[in-house]
Amino acid sequence: MSVDFVFDPTLNEITTDLCRDYWSYSSPNNYIAHVELLCQSYGINYFLLFSTLTKCQAYLDNVRCDFCGRPYELDVPADIPYARSLRSWFCEGCISFSGGQITVSR
Ligand SMILES: [Zn+2]
Repeated sequence: MSVDFVFDPTLNEITTDLCRDYWSYSSPNNYIAHVELLCQSYGINYFLLFSTLTKCQAYLDNVRCDFCGRPYELDVPADIPYARSLRSWFCEGCISFSGGQITVSR
């Protein structure tokens, strides 16, 4: 169970740590508290946190598109348990390319 990251080259060591800390949280129950704690411990506000997060793309390396093998792209940490519960997954590109012939099964 690991999350892969693609960081924007403008991010420094502290901000890449911030992104890793953000994505280390996968329980959807207390997301707000998690975000508040991150802002406190890094001494930043929500705006800075979320503008940093837009420069970091997170992927699940063990959930890949059944068709092309592209890793699952995460939007929020709560996606992690959801994505892991999928038996198969197709990326948006493959779904639109197939013209609706392949669909996500749950
Ligand atoms: Zn695909």
